[in-house]
Amino acid sequence: MATTETAVRVEDKLFQNRYLVDAGRAHIKVRPHTTPSAALKALLTTCPAKCYEMNDKGQVEITADGCVECGTCRIIGEPSGDIEWNYPRGGYGVLFKFG
Ligand code: SF4
Repeated sequence: MATTETAVRVEDKLFQNRYLVDAGRAHIKVRPHTTPSAALKALLTTCPAKCYEMNDKGQVEITADGCVECGTCRIIGEPSGDIEWNYPRGGYGVLFKFG
């Protein structure tokens, strides 16, 4: 009996979510730095929503609008003090679509 495999890309799944942005009140902040630590660099590749980017000054920045609140960056970056992580205020943030 043959099985049918359907490849689903992470980007396609993330597109199903909706976000209510709390303008001006980012729930995750990156500590000011001149040279990123190893932990900050790791966030560039570990965030599933690709919220972290390197700017043209070689510093890591976050745009938390598409954050799915998975906590990966909290585990990597908060113990070292590289980021400050909080849940969004009630009513804001990701709205998951199930099904
Ligand atoms: S909580 Fe997850 S999705 Fe949100 S910024 Fe951190 S790693 Fe990315």
